[in-house]
Formats: sequence, structure tokens, C-alpha cells
Amino acid sequence: MSEVISIANQKGGVGKTTTAVNLAASLAEKHKKVLLVDIDPQSNATTNLGFSRNDYEFNIYHVLIGSKKLSEIILKTEIKRLHLAPSNIGLVGIEKQFYDGRKKNRELVLKMALDEVKDKYDYIIIDSPPALGPITINALSASDSVIIPIQCEFFALEGLAQLLNTVSLLKKTINPKLKIKGFLPTMYSGQNNLSKQVFNDLKRHFNDKLFTDNQDFVVVPRNVKIAESPSFGKPVTHYASKSKGSKAYQALAEAILKA
Ligand code: ATP
Ligand code: MG
Repeated sequence: MSEVISIANQKGGVGKTTTAVNLAASLAEKHKKVLLVDIDPQSNATTNLGFSRNDYEFNIYHVLIGSKKLSEIILKTEIKRLHLAPSNIGLVGIEKQFYDGRKKNRELVLKMALDEVKDKYDYIIIDSPPALGPITINALSASDSVIIPIQCEFFALEGLAQLLNTVSLLKKTINPKLKIKGFLPTMYSGQNNLSKQVFNDLKRHFNDKLFTDNQDFVVVPRNVKIAESPSFGKPVTHYASKSKGSKAYQALAEAILKA
């Protein structure tokens, strides 16, 4: 049975793509078969795995408009057991198509596409864009659970209520099995009081929804290797596997495998 996990937060730049790519790579490293689905028009997850626009002809947009099957766009990556469904800037057009056409079951297009390949993977990880529009709704509707990265900076929890409302609305309507897998503090800096405060707020409000590995909370530190790794087209877990950033994502994968 495969498990589908979305990485979502409508706030921009909180570490969604970093989390999606490195969780996917870490699970693959731990012998799981993993599909990473890039459903953000910015295509950062695709780039982060070393692909550029000329490396692939079709992308998730073609799947969502129904002109390709998901299996026809999936790419093998440099990492064993990790496959990628790439994205492209052209995906911005999908929102208009979904709304203009009043497409039936438009929230479930991705879910139906995933059904074709689901049996081939242990985990499907979806990287979603910084918005609560139809793309993210498709991601959440296709998922068993969602991981919410929280950047340990000012305004970290702003907008969170809206995301949590969306999740609970979807749970009541089209996706009753949707769960919050957990909150992941990202870009944590021990020298920064604000970071500590955000982390303490998370512990206070969502203690049982924080990931733990060997009884330690999983917290992703602000780490220069993480920031560098996309420009080398590699997850940090492969670019600098012994770095603190890499270890945090390996711990996240471990926490998920044990859960
Ligand atoms: P968007 O909302 O635009 O999709 P995002 O939520 O996917 O953004 P990322 O792209 O993962 O966020 O991260 C934003 C930036 O911060 C990137 O340049 C990334 O390399 C960097 N970054 C992410 N996590 C860390 C970290 N723990 N330490 C240092 N830099 C980080
Ligand atoms: Mg992103």
C-alpha cells in the first residue's frame, strides 16, 4: 500500500520544496520506492533534482489536462528508487482551465492520475505551490496526509488557521481520510530568540503533531548546505549527507517510517 503525503503551506519560502525533495530522497535512501510529484509551476523540486527544461518534454500539466498519463511523464532521477513527475511554468494555465471549463470533479484530477501508478510506490510525496488555490486543493484531495513546514521566523503562524480550515473542510467533504501528519519547524536558528519562540509556540499548540526521532523533536536547522544544494541539482542528503540539514531530513524520514 502506498502512502501519499502532501507538503503544503500557502506561505511562500517556508521550506516546502526543500522538505519534499529531501524527505523523498531520504525515504528512497532507506530502500523505499518513492515518487516525488512537483505540482508547483515554479518547478523548484524539478530543478532541485537536477533537471532543466530541456531534459523533459511533458510534465504534470499535460497529466492534469488529460493529454498524458502520469506514467508517461515520470522521470528516473540520479537517486536510486526515486522517480519524479516534473513540473513546468506552463502549469500556471491549469487554474484558469479548471475554473473556466467548470470541469467536473476538478478537485480530484490529480488523485485519479495517481491511481494509475500508486501500486508501484511505497511513498508519493507532493510538493505544492504557495497558494490555497485549485492546485493545492488537488494535492490535498489526493493525499492521505499533509506535512506543514513552519519557518521559525516572524509571522510563522500567520495564515495557519486558514490552512487548517481548508484541511478540515476537505476532510468533511471530498477526502475524509486526510490527516495532518505533522508540523515541521524549518530554518531554526538556536541563536535567534524568535526561532525559539516559534518552536515553543508549536510545542504548546501542536505538541503531539511534531515529529520525533529517538525522543528528540525533528527540527530542521538553518543550514548553509541546504541553501547551496539546489544549485548543484542535488538534495542536501546527497550533496552534503553529513551536514546538520541532511541529518534533520534523515530523522524526518525515520520518524515517518516508524510511525
Ligand atoms: P515556495 O513557497 O516559493 O514554493 P518553499 O516553501 O518551497 O517556497 P523552499 O524553496 O524550500 O521554500 O525554501 C526557500 C529558500 O530557503 C530556498 O532558497 C531554500 O534553499 C532555502 N532554505 C530552505 N530551508 C532551508 C534551511 N533549513 N536552511 C537554509 N536555507 C533553507
Ligand atoms: Mg516550493
